[in-house]
Amino acid sequence: MSDAPITLDGAWLRAHPLPVHSDVDKNDRGRVLLIGGSTRVPGGVRLTTEAAFQAGAGKVQLAVPDMLAIPLGVLLPEAGIFALPSDATGEIAGTDPVEQVLDHCDCLAIGPAMGSADAAGQVLDAVLPRANARSVILDAAAVIAGHDRLPLLRRMTGRLILTPHAGEMAALTGEDRDVVTKDRAKVLLRLAKDLGAVVVLKGPTTMLANPHGELALYGGGGAGLATGGSGDVLTGIIAGLSARGLINWEAACWGVWLHGEAGRRLSERHGPMGFLARQLPAETPSLMRGF
Ligand code: AMP
Ligand code: MG
Repeated sequence: MSDAPITLDGAWLRAHPLPVHSDVDKNDRGRVLLIGGSTRVPGGVRLTTEAAFQAGAGKVQLAVPDMLAIPLGVLLPEAGIFALPSDATGEIAGTDPVEQVLDHCDCLAIGPAMGSADAAGQVLDAVLPRANARSVILDAAAVIAGHDRLPLLRRMTGRLILTPHAGEMAALTGEDRDVVTKDRAKVLLRLAKDLGAVVVLKGPTTMLANPHGELALYGGGGAGLATGGSGDVLTGIIAGLSARGLINWEAACWGVWLHGEAGRRLSERHGPMGFLARQLPAETPSLMRGF
């Protein structure tokens, strides 16, 4: 039995402060490698990249299907870009170009804006066995692809963060979506323990679990966050924080709080609906100030 869930609030954040970086270069500030994107959602990884930088990462490298590489590189002059082979549907179809970087990133994030679990699965098969990153985040199609690869995920014990919404959680675990929603604490704790992973089950109230049986809750963001690209931003914030050196559990909890508070601020400023996911990352630096 786990204790009552932690409520993510100012007291929790102050007790788990962000790393302070002084006398560092950009590599020490934290290096993120993001593998994702598809021609169906060509701009989603831009959101993840900007969110990682605005959460404080020193370096973000982005590996995307080849036809997206130059446009994204021009839109994201701060990022390094790798052009990956793609298939006829515009999904990633090979990861050789990033092999050299796998040893040189602190956080590896896979899946944002990919449209195919098959393509994401091939990425997992190719990179997970070779990845040395302290932290590996699986989102969206990469979570769904995990269903057929549980032994591979178990080999990543202690390093994985998963960020599913309820549908992706159902696909990963094979449970009914209703069960995932109704018994979410049980389903989450079981998965976190089985995989040795931090699991973030997103929704109007987001619940997080870690392999030690701890649970955390955050529900303050508001329904304006239920908008295209919102989850891509969350993945980027968590990636940036974990690359900076926060342990996975704290990076996930902090990330959920920052993403939610960014939504809350935008709703206060503009109204509860209609802000864009791309407006969220710019809120994070000032939200982090003072912690
Ligand atoms: P995704 O489904 O991957 O785009 O992620 C959506 C993001 O928005 C997650 O961080 C959810 O927790 C958040 N979210 C979705 N619906 C709501 C809601 N009704 N209220 C607050 N946050 C929400
Ligand atoms: Mg998503």
